[in-house]
Amino acid sequence: MKKPYYIDYPQEHVEGHAHTYQCVYCKVVTTTINGSIEGHLPTCEYRLKLEGDGFEKNADSHSLACSSSDEVD
Ligand SMILES: [Zn+2]
Repeated sequence: MKKPYYIDYPQEHVEGHAHTYQCVYCKVVTTTINGSIEGHLPTCEYRLKLEGDGFEKNADSHSLACSSSDEVD
């Protein structure tokens, strides 16, 4: 199974930052996670659950296919 973005993890407000949110489990901010499983720490409960459920990490062919279009302008 595979999803383009993994954004259904529980988030919490980062104290002192009005518009910044972080994963409840691993405390990595959402802008760093950027919708990918790898954005979470290897020990993150959410990441472990997804991997345990059989979700693939979104790397390999997907990123390769998109890389060329970003280079133009
Ligand atoms: Zn996390």
